[in-house]
Amino acid sequence: MRALKAYVSAYHNEVTGSRFLLVLERPDEKVYRILIDYGYFQEPKYRYLNYVDDLNPENIDAIVVTHNHIDHTGLLPKAVRQGYKKNIYMTEITEELIGNFLYDSAEQQEENAHDMRDRYPDEAHKFNPLYYKEDVEKTLKQCVGIAYRKTIEILPGVKLTFWENAHILGASMILLQCSYLNMRPLNFLFTGDFKFDNSFTRVPMFPKWFRDMELIMFSESTYGTTKRDEIKKCFRNNILEAFERKQDILIGAFAQGRMQEILYDFKVLQDEGLIPPEYQICVDGPLGISTNEKYRDILDWYNPSRKDFMPKGIRYMDHKSREYIFNDGVPKIVITTSGMLNNGPARVYVPMFLERDNTLIHLVGYAAEETLARKLLDTKRDEAVKIGAKTYKKKSVIKTTREKTSHATEEELIELINMFNNIKFLGINHGNTDVKDEFYDDVMTQCPNVHQAGILDREHMFSFYRVGLKSDYDTRVIVKARSAGLINNSKLVFGKEASAQEIFEKHQVARAQKDKRKLRSQKNGKKDKQKKSKRREKRTGRCCSKRKR
Ligand SMILES: [Zn+2]
Repeated sequence: MRALKAYVSAYHNEVTGSRFLLVLERPDEKVYRILIDYGYFQEPKYRYLNYVDDLNPENIDAIVVTHNHIDHTGLLPKAVRQGYKKNIYMTEITEELIGNFLYDSAEQQEENAHDMRDRYPDEAHKFNPLYYKEDVEKTLKQCVGIAYRKTIEILPGVKLTFWENAHILGASMILLQCSYLNMRPLNFLFTGDFKFDNSFTRVPMFPKWFRDMELIMFSESTYGTTKRDEIKKCFRNNILEAFERKQDILIGAFAQGRMQEILYDFKVLQDEGLIPPEYQICVDGPLGISTNEKYRDILDWYNPSRKDFMPKGIRYMDHKSREYIFNDGVPKIVITTSGMLNNGPARVYVPMFLERDNTLIHLVGYAAEETLARKLLDTKRDEAVKIGAKTYKKKSVIKTTREKTSHATEEELIELINMFNNIKFLGINHGNTDVKDEFYDDVMTQCPNVHQAGILDREHMFSFYRVGLKSDYDTRVIVKARSAGLINNSKLVFGKEASAQEIFEKHQVARAQKDKRKLRSQKNGKKDKQKKSKRREKRTGRCCSKRKR
């Protein structure tokens, strides 16, 4: 029987390097390939994946972007460099913001390639900059900004709508309604990285027709096992305590989202008269500073009540003034890029703050392995920290918090999923393996409107069939050993077909085996681990946790 078919694969088992490929096969044999996000792998151990030529951009018919984070957009100029000439759709806010970030990424390409050559000397010839400024220039010309909730037809029979998402300003959930003649459409909803609210916006209620729509949904699960009450709100108190102790404060912040939210927090403290008058607020990092300006312009029309989110009397720093930050003896609050302290002006500030007694270095985001932020958290007071070629003694107090996360907690993700009344299939992705597994169980027990669910990763893709003209909906799930064949998309090669129940059982068996192994290794190393974690608690203590973003 003739059918409208769709295949979805993801190329990321991890939480960076986001990309989905949706292949639509119509009954008239016309095939469309739509890429949802094309992100850069940021974790050093997965960065080589950025250089693997697994995608033929000339075969792609449209690219749609969920939001302006490099792990969702960072390879767009690579696609353009390799021959992608069609439109790249995003919200109009993301279109405003994306340029500076892609130019910044282009600037880092030489350094990234250099790191890769050092890491894999035998394959050094493979690692060259992925793209240059000229490629970014071309990419920006192909970007098309669309307002939230405005539906447009991007390919014959394929309608696109961006829905509000407060992960960061401009973020969206992507709805793709795919139909053929008078067949009922296959509706795909990609959540992207999701959150209900941030300092600047809140997701409004979705209309009933959207909530009642028959959906095939793909949800992130980054914080899929983190409960709301596990995230302690300590940032404000930590800062007030630092004021009392007259500490100089250094805060590492991502250029978009975190920096503006932190600035807004200080504006609130300022309005409440809680910032001692002698303190000076300094902001550094060209990308962060330019994004602050963009935020002001965007909020001017998007949410004017938050337009003036910056505290008064800010001092902007540059490469000269940052060297002499302590010379005037005035206590400082420095908010700078980068969030994990690995790049940008943070590299200059950290050594200066680290060796001073009365200072606080506050982290407000996830500290990945092999980053300076992680190193600081894992180093005891008075121990040595190596930064570049030099060694510094850690005198500073280091604190961190997860309260500024831009991802939904377990309860919020379940709330989002339960907003929709007819989810034919829910694909879980964008989370650590254990988290995805656990979240899968939560969905199966707490989401009565989800008919089937599965975990989407490099090893599994899913296919969906709409058979007949008015027909019953037939959703079949196909397991494939490798998704590379689909990503490469010249030819679709399928592995063994299985029902969602079979996949679930397969997962259960794998988890039981894993739990057994875990139990065994726990028994063996329990005492050691207890000692280790006690030591760690002593070092990082406070109300801080080091779990993933
Ligand atoms: Zn994101």
